[in-house]
Amino acid sequence: MRRLTRPTLEEALRDYLDRMQALVDTGADVKATWRAQRQSASMKRVAQILAGMTGPRQRCMYCEDSRGTDIEHFKPQAIFKDHVFLWLNMLWICSGCNRSKGSRFPCDASGQPLLIDPTAEDPWDFLFFDPMTGEITARWDRETRLESSKGSALLAIFSTLRHQAVTEGRRRVFRNLRRAVRSFLAHEGRDSSGQDVSAESLQELFESIEDSNDYGLVNWFFLREGQDEEPFRRLRDEFPRVWSAVIERLA
Ligand SMILES: [Zn+2]
Repeated sequence: MRRLTRPTLEEALRDYLDRMQALVDTGADVKATWRAQRQSASMKRVAQILAGMTGPRQRCMYCEDSRGTDIEHFKPQAIFKDHVFLWLNMLWICSGCNRSKGSRFPCDASGQPLLIDPTAEDPWDFLFFDPMTGEITARWDRETRLESSKGSALLAIFSTLRHQAVTEGRRRVFRNLRRAVRSFLAHEGRDSSGQDVSAESLQELFESIEDSNDYGLVNWFFLREGQDEEPFRRLRDEFPRVWSAVIERLA
């Protein structure tokens, strides 16, 4: 998972969603209204915008492994009838993750949601990645000496995030990123000032990173603990300008 930016909807779509929510608020059947509207041109446009938020391959916002196929209600429509047509409550999900989640919505003792909304928070605040196994685990909180409850809740609900095919996919992305950085270092290794890096190899590095921007791992290796792993650490320490340029492109 990775942090995603939610665009503002055009006015016509905002009005449409407000009207549909008003219908539900005034007693229209939630399931029937949703099912009927899901096929409308306006809702198809909403789905298209959601699908595009993870990039051209329209990946599921949770596993980032399969193509998303449907609109997911972060707060399930079966429980939160006042959130059914709320834009901020909509995510994009694959059928496997959708089945895993169902209508579950775990909360902590004070009623705060335990699930992670990737459009409102950075999943890496609650998760940790092991490049050797390809697995993600709940982040260990040094202060409380406990595993992140949000990370644990996410992994308990989405078994899809622990499927072997998904962990293999993460390992492959890690190897691709590592290869791209190593190749850059092999070509530019003699100049550590970061001043005279050839435009060609810099462009190649950017493209390889963008091509491997799956599972949120680019953010892990360039913004999180992953940057202390080799060869990322060497790129950061020996080519600070290149490192900054990569970070800038991630922003
Ligand atoms: Zn999924």
